Amino acid sequence: MPIKTHHYTNGEITVAWKPALCIHSGICARGLRTVFDPTRKPWINLSLAETARIIEQVKKCPSGALSIEEPAQGIE
Ligand code: SF4
Repeated sequence: MPIKTHHYTNGEITVAWKPALCIHSGICARGLRTVFDPTRKPWINLSLAETARIIEQVKKCPSGALSIEEPAQGIE
């Protein structure tokens, strides 16, 4: 059975979040609270930071729960 995935976009990139993989380390919320706020619904809002900063934070997710699905051209 495929793992349930939520998608969030800012028009440049799409961030995927797989709740089943999230170990609730809090690294995303501590590192970039404006975008990753567990007290908000939806808890991820990509319009609140620069794309490059979001990508940098997503890469720090230790479990793989967060990932970039559609990087914009020219952004690594
Ligand atoms: S950094 Fe990854 S594992 Fe940690 S709370 Fe955020 S999504 Fe979950």
